[in-house]
Amino acid sequence: MHEVSIALGIVDELMRIAQQNNAKKIVNVKLKIGKMSGLVTDSLKFAFDAVKLEHPLLSSAEILINEVPLIYQCNDCGKNFDTEDICFPSCPNCESYNLKLISGEEQHIENVEVEI
Ligand SMILES: [Zn+2]
Repeated sequence: MHEVSIALGIVDELMRIAQQNNAKKIVNVKLKIGKMSGLVTDSLKFAFDAVKLEHPLLSSAEILINEVPLIYQCNDCGKNFDTEDICFPSCPNCESYNLKLISGEEQHIENVEVEI
């Protein structure tokens, strides 16, 4: 499961943040995950909740996942739009496939709340 390795990476990053801040524990974590990343947010949450138990600093941390929609800009007419279509999106305005991805690939920690 891809989500487990992502969760492990997040945990590493969180431990580093906790150390830098001399935190006693991590209270909550906000992640930003784009739809394009292909991650299933429920699976990621599940994986994180399993992995965190191995780390006392993290064991009571609450994870919140902010799922970022796919947003494209049309190179032909300049319109921005969001879509659920990962494979073959087209511009709703002019039906062009000449698009630029603006957001939806995010896969990072947005915010961490710690107790010091
Ligand atoms: Zn267009």
